[in-house]
Amino acid sequence: MSDDHAWQAVSAYGESRQLIQTPNIDRLAKEGMRFDHCLVNNALCGPSRASTLTGTYSHINGFYNNTNCRFDGSQITFPKFLQGVGYQTAMIGKWHLETDPTGFDHWEILPGQGRYYNPPMIRDGQMVIHPGYATDIITDLSLDWLKQRDPAKPFMLLCWNKAPHREWEPALRDLDFDHDRIYPQPESLFDDYTGRGLAEHDQDMTIAQTMRMKEDCKLVAPPDLSPEQRKAWDAYYVPRNEAFLKKNLTGRALTEWKYNRYMHDYLGCIKGVDDNVGRILKYLDDTGLAANTIVIYSSDQGFFLGEHGWFDKRWIFQESARTPMLVRWPGTVRPGSVNRDLVSNLDLAETFLQLAGATIPERMQGRSLVPVLAGATPADWRSAFYYHYYEYPAWHHVSPHYGLITDRFTLAHFYSPSVDYWELFDREKDPGEMRSVFGDPAYAEVQSKLMEEVLRQRVALKEPAKDDPASFGSTEDLRASDAPAKK
Ligand code: CA
Repeated sequence: MSDDHAWQAVSAYGESRQLIQTPNIDRLAKEGMRFDHCLVNNALCGPSRASTLTGTYSHINGFYNNTNCRFDGSQITFPKFLQGVGYQTAMIGKWHLETDPTGFDHWEILPGQGRYYNPPMIRDGQMVIHPGYATDIITDLSLDWLKQRDPAKPFMLLCWNKAPHREWEPALRDLDFDHDRIYPQPESLFDDYTGRGLAEHDQDMTIAQTMRMKEDCKLVAPPDLSPEQRKAWDAYYVPRNEAFLKKNLTGRALTEWKYNRYMHDYLGCIKGVDDNVGRILKYLDDTGLAANTIVIYSSDQGFFLGEHGWFDKRWIFQESARTPMLVRWPGTVRPGSVNRDLVSNLDLAETFLQLAGATIPERMQGRSLVPVLAGATPADWRSAFYYHYYEYPAWHHVSPHYGLITDRFTLAHFYSPSVDYWELFDREKDPGEMRSVFGDPAYAEVQSKLMEEVLRQRVALKEPAKDDPASFGSTEDLRASDAPAKK
């Protein structure tokens, strides 16, 4: 799993901008199944991970947001079950759940968000500093663990990358990977949010206003480079930054420059991820493990790559709630297959439990993907997926909202002290989710059906009638903008 890897940045998904080639990740699509509607229940790092581990929504596992939540590691998780039925289990990379991992024979994690260069890590409780680049190191440590495991016992490894999370710092060897490419822009880069409500107008996550010139756009070097690494960093960025500063860009031209720098840095991180996925696949090939190992590549959510003028995630919209997922399972998944069922991060725990022959606890709220992977989706598979985002107002000021995603529609209820409205998007006619049709008489029937369904699911999923105020996180409005804070 990677952190914030947009499906638009996996070439197997064929996004129209063709932002990057990811041949190694694409191998999993060629040799396995590509999921086109893999959704997360709360598009934020910690909450999505907590839901993946427990197979439950945020209001059940208690990890609602990244500002004041700590994961309760005493609850039921899939690694604990696998460990219990004889699997060797390991967690390596970015954890981001505040408490120590539980259910693993071995773990080595980045503290908090971690660093890209020379990252300190915590190995079974002890701090260790690794020289080098985070994505390489996480892969090295994963391969080390695979090599030393007991080959007579089954294993489950979570290799969870930090990349491509903000501030998007590529491996130094990859800085010139795109040869100063000018990236195609999304149609909605200069979205003015017409046709949508206050939440969209009032967010703080635009490339134009929120993205910081120094750290995000690399006008200053990250502090954790060694002198030698700093030379390589400077050799790439300094002349480009000087040329940029000479131009004195403003307005639209400045936003376009920021978008292009963002794509360079973000996709440079993806390049490192893809190369390292290749290393793991090669190890599985070389050892013969590939034939009997299920490999899943996914992310903890999607990411905006300039759509609506945004970076970051959080929203129920497709770029954010939808995440890449590719699964290779030799002998069961038909190579090159594409699945369009509504599947989710909540389904993974039950999938692993079924595969390992463990009993699925009542508490879990997903559904095993085993039949889906075998190409026989049950007739009563879900037709609407429930979503709920909480964190507010800290970081990016995105209003709390809940709603449903179906194969065609997105329904959302935005609510916060200053906001209370619904939106409905017809993604068949409006794939970019640019115009809400909520209240449009032409959609009256589908609207009322979805409103009923969202209430039904809230009850079925045991949502409290009123959210705990603590679920929104810090009450501080942490605006990250270069621009003065909006009132
Ligand atoms: Ca994330």
